Amino acid sequence: MRKVSDSLTGLANRVLFNERLQQTIEKAKQQKSSFALLFVDLDRFKQINDSLGHAIGDKVLQIISKRLQRVVRTEDTISRLGGDEFTILAQDLDKGENASLIAEKIISSISKAIYIDNHTLYLTSSIGISIFPDDGAEADHLLKNADAAMFRAKEEGKNNFQYYSVDMTQLAFERVVMEASLRKALSNDEFVVYFQPQVDGKTDKIIGMEALVRWEHPDVGMIFPDKFIPLAQETGLILAIDQKVMKAAMTQIAKWYKMGLNPGVLALNLSMKQLNQGDCIENLEQLMSDSKCKAEWLELEVTEGEIMKNPQSAIEILNKISQMGIELAVDDFGTGYSSLSYLKRLPIDKLKIDKSFVDGLPDNEEDVGIARAIIALAQSLKLEVIAEGVETKEQRDFLIQNGCTNIQGYYYSKPLPAGKMQEMLKKDLAIL
Ligand code: C2E
Ligand code: CA
Ligand code: CA
Repeated sequence: MRKVSDSLTGLANRVLFNERLQQTIEKAKQQKSSFALLFVDLDRFKQINDSLGHAIGDKVLQIISKRLQRVVRTEDTISRLGGDEFTILAQDLDKGENASLIAEKIISSISKAIYIDNHTLYLTSSIGISIFPDDGAEADHLLKNADAAMFRAKEEGKNNFQYYSVDMTQLAFERVVMEASLRKALSNDEFVVYFQPQVDGKTDKIIGMEALVRWEHPDVGMIFPDKFIPLAQETGLILAIDQKVMKAAMTQIAKWYKMGLNPGVLALNLSMKQLNQGDCIENLEQLMSDSKCKAEWLELEVTEGEIMKNPQSAIEILNKISQMGIELAVDDFGTGYSSLSYLKRLPIDKLKIDKSFVDGLPDNEEDVGIARAIIALAQSLKLEVIAEGVETKEQRDFLIQNGCTNIQGYYYSKPLPAGKMQEMLKKDLAIL
């Protein structure tokens, strides 16, 4: 006999799913009706398997299967395609929009607490939806497109559903290609560090520089971080990339000091994910000793949004880093809804006014108000302040007049490769 049900959950398996999908397509064609294909994927299910073992993981899948059966109408087919991937064929939809009701019910039923042995688990799910015939008249198209929409749901922060749209096919493809080439880039050493000067606007002297990574792709040319950092974050490759960036940048700054130049403080961009790595402090110490880079030459930039995701744990780790003698700056300040009570307790040295507020200076009243407020806040908390993304003389002059003398941006210089930065350092002025 042909096996059509999944032995773990009793749901339809992939074979039966394909058959049902085919039948549903035929029926809908005849009746000129539409239906929805929902692709459900549990978020972070791998963590449960990894930390609690497969036996618990299997029980979770069984419980989720039961819940799905309860929220879906009996005529709708639920299948488990494998792992933690489920599909639902929702028949006879009047309008595509009805699929969102089903998706909402699924998301809420999955999110209820799961009790197994003495564990209480909370799961979320991401769902992609494709609608016949608009999103595909053939089985494999519908499935592929629902899958792409599910990917988008994950990218939107998980625990939500998304309808398929045409631009997603391209996206899913790019992701796969991009991830493979990121790995290759790491082993081929295609990442290069650029340096952008931070300047005392009153004297035009360099007070420091920010290390910014660039990907020099052998075929594509230079690729900017906005294109690849998000995916690198998601896949964890960021850890390896930042390790390379830190090593290269620290080695370079130590070399400049040894040459008798005065590069000031080296600012490195790190995410909380990196700082939360168990060996983060040891790793920093190792890098510093390998590259002969002193703690007082270093500053770490962490974005406000990242800190405020989990301020309590941020305070702990940032304290340790601060005790090493490394300075801390809050990047993109003004965009992350800081709670002032946390801000006071963080061991930070500097606020970095986000470019989006600098853009409107000196004419946009709102930006003027925000910039002034941040500068006043820094002064009252006895923090340094620097503005990023300063492109014009008017912006620079406004900032200096209002008490922010530290300036970074194209007005002085774009990020430069090490060789060009060295020429600038030899002049000891932020002018090439
Ligand atoms: P960020 O930390 O906010 O860096 C500032 C960005 O603004 C940089 O873009 C910089 O080149 C750009 N910029 C500086 N001055 C101006 C200006 O006057 N006008 C304009 N239009 N742009 C200016 P970049 O290098 O493309 O980096 C983008 C983001 O990628 C960074 O934002 C940072 O979050 C991330 N990033 C860059 N390098 C690294 C790295 O090595 N590690 C990690 N984890 N993230 C990095
Ligand atoms: Ca930064
Ligand atoms: Ca920034």
